[in-house]
Amino acid sequence: MSSDKTSDKFYGVVIIGAGIAGLSVAETFTAAGFEDFIILEASDRIGGRCHTEDFGGSFVELGANWIHGTTSENSIMVLAEENDLANKQELMNWSKGCFYKSDGRKIDEDLGAKVWDFCMEIDAEAQRMHCCLSKQDKTIYTVEDFYVDRLPEFLEKFSMSDRDDATAIFNSFFNYQRLNFGWDIAKVPFESYIKYKDIDGGDAFMPKGARSLISAIASRFRSKERIKVGVEVVTVNWEDGGVKIRCSSGDTYRAKCAVVTVSLGYLKKHHQTFFYPPVSHEKYLAIDRIAFGVVNKIFLEYDPPFWSKDTPLDSVRLAWDNKELVITDHKSQWFKRIFCIDAVRFNPNCLCVWISCHEGLHVETVPDEEISETCTMVLRQFLGDPTIPYPCKVIRSTWGTNKYTLGSYSCMGLRSDASHFNILAEPLKDSNGQLRVLFAGEATHAAFNGTMHGARESGVREATRLLRQFGTDPRKSECFIRDLVVLNEVY
Ligand SMILES: Cc1cc2nc3c(=O)[nH]c(=O)nc-3n(C[C@H](O)[C@H](O)[C@H](O)COP(=O)(O)OP(=O)(O)OC[C@H]3O[C@@H](n4cnc5c(N)ncnc54)[C@H](O)[C@@H]3O)c2cc1C
Repeated sequence: MSSDKTSDKFYGVVIIGAGIAGLSVAETFTAAGFEDFIILEASDRIGGRCHTEDFGGSFVELGANWIHGTTSENSIMVLAEENDLANKQELMNWSKGCFYKSDGRKIDEDLGAKVWDFCMEIDAEAQRMHCCLSKQDKTIYTVEDFYVDRLPEFLEKFSMSDRDDATAIFNSFFNYQRLNFGWDIAKVPFESYIKYKDIDGGDAFMPKGARSLISAIASRFRSKERIKVGVEVVTVNWEDGGVKIRCSSGDTYRAKCAVVTVSLGYLKKHHQTFFYPPVSHEKYLAIDRIAFGVVNKIFLEYDPPFWSKDTPLDSVRLAWDNKELVITDHKSQWFKRIFCIDAVRFNPNCLCVWISCHEGLHVETVPDEEISETCTMVLRQFLGDPTIPYPCKVIRSTWGTNKYTLGSYSCMGLRSDASHFNILAEPLKDSNGQLRVLFAGEATHAAFNGTMHGARESGVREATRLLRQFGTDPRKSECFIRDLVVLNEVY
């Protein structure tokens, strides 16, 4: 992929961002015979929030991990199956794992499994009962409110002697849900359950990593010529006649249209200077109100591992008591937001620590030594084994401070509703009603936001919208050629 300077180059379409959404736009264009496009990618690699990194003698996923839903409704699953990239036989088993208390006691496995099943039932109930809530309830009621309301009824299912453990597991479930939403569940409206659409079939692994998916999409178009990496777009001027795209290098690109696929986090920070003329007030509200939280992973490599090959360490889930879980200072107590410490599939020497919210963001700023110390302290304490060694290497994701992402994935915020995702997806049209700036990316998909398949569908959606405007073969379309002439005159 080249990153050479190209000034005043004209393209039919400039695609901004080479994550799944941007690459899917390019793939759809190519399949329709339209190749007059370029992808500008700010970072030095393609894939965006799909980021597989070599580590621990194998690989780890700093971003997306699983294909959520294995039916043909999941466009990523379809792609993975076409390229033999997913293992449908070995699904992620969320009920596998043991709960440990901070005094090193493992909660009885049967009790742990029973309590977790109840937690999952409550979750399923939430998805079923959304339709029973009045509009007013939906706006005031949060995901956390729902779980807290269910707690007394939930505890009644357990004997008095098991209730403390059941409560501690429920606390662990809260940290699990914070990972799912990527956001503080006290700030996620209950309505988010209505909007998000689960796909059946469980969560599939990608034995060759998420990068294999990215390569599969990129191989469907002439990516070496069509992608420029290390090119940060700073402004998109959209007016009658076309768009003019300025990069931080000073280079400009001119095009008939642009497809913006940058993350919602990037839009939140830069939209005021990024678009000229600015976006409408409605779109501004969508950008402002949809939440964009932080989920991070820390990978610990051991040489040799302190667990044996015959008894692999499954998911170590931290079950804090109510009092312990109060976080008075997220900088010194960030470890209380860890949901679990997991074995890593396809990487037998590594463990993965999952963490979210403020504390997940703070982790991005602490030195490796502190991460190593703190994770070891947590493992020793919860597994009740003071001899657990320090990891030999640590790597972590930094989605919150990555300047081209500024967060992990979108979810409904307290002042947002399902319509905001659709408003974010609405294209900007010029005074002649021509599409000039289109929006793709996971946060523009109302039902599948926060996922790879949401990102992919949004890319296909926007490419199709443009192809429709252009006609089936836009290069031969008189209207398109006339537009190009106008555009060249304008600039
Ligand atoms: C920790 C984590 C775990 C996840 N787990 C899963 C999972 O298990 N399953 C799942 O389905 N999904 C998961 N996701 C979500 C999934 O990764 C994303 O929804 C999806 O990859 C988003 O793709 P995108 O194309 O919309 O955005 P991105 O991948 O963010 O692509 C946008 C691209 O735009 C580039 N860019 C930004 N600004 C500019 C600029 N100014 N100029 C040029 N380029 C720019 C960025 O560098 C980036 O490459 C996870 C995400 C994270 C962070």
